[in-house]
Amino acid sequence: MKDIKKTTALLLALVLALGLAGCGKKEEPVVMSSPGGLYKLDKSGEAVIDNVDLDALSLYEANKDSLSPAEDNARVFYEIFVGSFSDSNGDGIGDLKGIINRLDYLNDGDPKSGKSLGIEGIWLTPIFTSRSYHKYDVNDYYEIDPQFGTMEDLKELIEGCHKRGIKLILDLVINHTGRANPWYQSFVTAHRNNDKSDLYYDFYSYYTQGDPVPAGRTFTQVSGTDIYVECNFDGSMPELNYEDADVRRAVLDVAKYYLDMGIDGFRFDAAKYLYFGETQKNVDFWKWYLAELKKIKPSVYTVAEVWDGDSTTDKYFEALNCFNFSMSQTNGMIADVAKAGDANRLTNYVEQYIVNVQKLRDDATIVPFISNHDMDRCAGYLTPATWNAQFAANLYILGPGSPFIYYGEEIGLRGSRGGEQTDANRRLAMLWGDGDTVADPEGSTYSAENQLKDGVDVQKAADDSLLNYYKRLIMIRSANPEIARGTYKSLRLKDTKVGGFISTWKDSSVIVLHNPSNGSKTVELPELAGGGFTVLKDFIGEGGASIEGSTLTLDGHTSCVLRKPGAIFAGGN
Ligand code: CA
Repeated sequence: MKDIKKTTALLLALVLALGLAGCGKKEEPVVMSSPGGLYKLDKSGEAVIDNVDLDALSLYEANKDSLSPAEDNARVFYEIFVGSFSDSNGDGIGDLKGIINRLDYLNDGDPKSGKSLGIEGIWLTPIFTSRSYHKYDVNDYYEIDPQFGTMEDLKELIEGCHKRGIKLILDLVINHTGRANPWYQSFVTAHRNNDKSDLYYDFYSYYTQGDPVPAGRTFTQVSGTDIYVECNFDGSMPELNYEDADVRRAVLDVAKYYLDMGIDGFRFDAAKYLYFGETQKNVDFWKWYLAELKKIKPSVYTVAEVWDGDSTTDKYFEALNCFNFSMSQTNGMIADVAKAGDANRLTNYVEQYIVNVQKLRDDATIVPFISNHDMDRCAGYLTPATWNAQFAANLYILGPGSPFIYYGEEIGLRGSRGGEQTDANRRLAMLWGDGDTVADPEGSTYSAENQLKDGVDVQKAADDSLLNYYKRLIMIRSANPEIARGTYKSLRLKDTKVGGFISTWKDSSVIVLHNPSNGSKTVELPELAGGGFTVLKDFIGEGGASIEGSTLTLDGHTSCVLRKPGAIFAGGN
């Protein structure tokens, strides 16, 4: 609360300054709006964000129909680990109806209400029938796992998302399947019968006893045969054979089926493993696959998991966007800069990254995130109390492309693998605090005592909560649509840890500045992008921002958005 008071005092000072300025000379406009961290409570005791100037958002909304697919896909996404999110039927397992019940929390359909998180895309971890709790071993691509619901539930979820302007993407796991998959069962039967004419005989990657063992891979013997099937991830996950045209056709049919149903796109699991160790073959496959998907849905949203260094990952951008792993996790660039690092490192990197990937494909973009279901939660190394969590969110949400929030990150949910090395600890139950019966997944060992105490219910009503911080942050991004979609140029500031970028879209520019330091810093406005950016549109962080004359003062762990006076985003007009 200390920080809120500090911000309030700062705001009052600025309002007074503005009032006084209004009485005097007008040639040096000091324009101030939008305090950081002030909310009003509505009748139900829920905080409402009502201090973001939404003029540009209105123009953006009015011209949405004229956006290119890439411009429209520059959205904030939210990854839901389905079994851990919200339980509708009391069995402790999160399900599709549970997600439907929580849609208003994620996005109430009114970009200006200030009451919901405001995400515009959802990634569901796998929902098809599977023997595991995480469901990355698919048994039938055409059946919803009964633990999660039915195909009717999925259709209802699609409808609910679309009503709210949310794109819904599915996790498509097509490198491998589960052992109970009928494709795999047919493959095994064909080999037991030595029936080489069977469609499924070559459906999986294998070698025959006596033949040379392919190097660097892991194989498991198929009982009752003399073959060994490729299982690099786990013995329960046999890998499909992408040399076989029938396999390529079968996985295309799966995607087509869901696009036809209304699904907006996919997150592709293990995208670099389809042809083990053969990058160009993988890239060529994804180019073909994406071209086919775009025939069905030109606006299809896709992102690939290529967990590798940028030099490898970048190659896949010839076909599709990939998650940016360099910026994620405890040693990633977001965490490093958030903890009093140098913001210029980040902005210089992002500029170069976009140049690199757009050499391969014009509409390629960056997909940043801090953590996902395969990583320790960031609340362990980025705590809200130090303002590192809030500032890390500034760094990747007030930026280009489509950032992905891992469910619970917006409330500071905790969970790490721990000494037991169990990934279930990274996928703990969402903390609603309102009686939701969703429980931690099987195999989890994380102590409830170490978990966060204040869930969504408490954070909704607390004006200084991480949840309301995220709401306001996403709203600022939406209110300045150039940030996500424009041409990105790092400002390359000198002799300071403050870094920023100018983003220009449809002849309109905004500047975003980040101060990762622990204390205030000043920036001379005439030195930014040729000068003229004298309107402080918004700021958000531990402290505040103000302009006096031509000097901007930006407090530590705080970011701000600047515009030119009178320059209003022109939308698609
Ligand atoms: Ca359930």
